[in-house]
Amino acid sequence: MTAERKPGFDTLAIHAGAQPDSATGARATPIYQTTSFVFDNVEHAAALFNLETFGNIYTRIMNPTQAVLEERVAALEGGTAGLAVASGHAAQALVFHTLLAPGDEFIAARQLYGGSINQFTHAFKKCGWEVRWADTTDAESFRAALTPKTKAIFVESIANPGGIITDLEAVAAVAKQAGVPFIVDNTLATPYLMRPIEYGADIIVHSLTKFLGGHGNSIGGAIVDCGTFDWLKSGRYPTLSAPCASYHGITLAETFGNFAFAIACRVLGLRDLGPAISPFNAFLILTGIETLPLRMQRHCDNALAVATWLSGHDQIAWVNYAGLPGNEFHEAAKRYSPKGAGAVFTFGLKGGYEAGIALVSNVKLFSHLANIGDTRSLIIHPASTTHRQLTDEQRIRAGAGPEVVRLSVGLESVEDLIADLDQALAAA
Ligand SMILES: *Cc1c(COP(=O)(O)O)cnc(C)c1O
Repeated sequence: MTAERKPGFDTLAIHAGAQPDSATGARATPIYQTTSFVFDNVEHAAALFNLETFGNIYTRIMNPTQAVLEERVAALEGGTAGLAVASGHAAQALVFHTLLAPGDEFIAARQLYGGSINQFTHAFKKCGWEVRWADTTDAESFRAALTPKTKAIFVESIANPGGIITDLEAVAAVAKQAGVPFIVDNTLATPYLMRPIEYGADIIVHSLTKFLGGHGNSIGGAIVDCGTFDWLKSGRYPTLSAPCASYHGITLAETFGNFAFAIACRVLGLRDLGPAISPFNAFLILTGIETLPLRMQRHCDNALAVATWLSGHDQIAWVNYAGLPGNEFHEAAKRYSPKGAGAVFTFGLKGGYEAGIALVSNVKLFSHLANIGDTRSLIIHPASTTHRQLTDEQRIRAGAGPEVVRLSVGLESVEDLIADLDQALAAA
């Protein structure tokens, strides 16, 4: 007998969490499009509601299609458990709802998806959760932002939209020393390119809307519990380490050990705030994940070819793609993301704001829209769209100045993508 093989990443992308359906033998994961599930009897119902047995009650909290997606994402990241929710923003909201109380603070990199900057600055303020900003390129800036009220540190592994590779190990060290969980948004990298758990992440969040789903057809989000943070030892996170009033006084970290965080996000955050993912979206995203390794590699290869071409164009002031030799983050990319530097990057037009507007107006194959991680190639001028709510200073600090254009390079023939940019730049 050989020792049991550990399945490879590509195998997990197709099989993790899934089995032929026990009722019908269906090989693809069925869409369990039902709101609720029949109890075996009164005792079974009571055990479910007491968290004494695990099972389906109601699709806001758990559903078999969602469960396969959760296991799949957790397996790809190497975590102990996952939770799928309605969107990436819902995932972030549930993570912080589980960790923070009014008056608490967290530190976030200021180089973030524009929507996350809004969520942290405005929506979270209404909950009494205060964000302090640090610079994702400077781990010491996180240390400088620590206060006795700091309860978490949040970064993006590959920062949107600037093409920055965060030195995860350095920021993780600050979080460890401060005794707070290190949260990594791994949306732009996906676990195919980078697994934050290997560099000290405690919690990983995803917008499944992007490369994991990969086809631009479904909004979804996920939380992965890395199982690495000791909630009981810390004692600073009462949702996990104190008796839970809404579950007859059980202590979640005692009962659920190294997947207590994922459980807390489900049985409190998701139960009470309600951002459940539909079974249909879970199915579409699962189908997307099956081809993640193939797609992600092609995304990266196409992005490198487009970035290389742009950097030789005389209307282009600069190209910020960590895959390019000479880029500030090229060494970090080789270390953290050796298969490729992702497919989202920015470049600057010598013609500034007006040239950016002209370029997005003249492309034909690229789609002008606010998304990333589609099979289709996408283009946006952040200053006039995703980042327009921010102040000039916030925009520049987020890598979204007036001359900046962002691409999400898709899976088309790369010659066609280059030809489209060529004609649009000529027309502009
Ligand atoms: C899109 C995105 C989000 C938000 O995800 P939604 O699914 O749109 O709610 C968060 N972080 C990053 C890096 C993103 O690209």
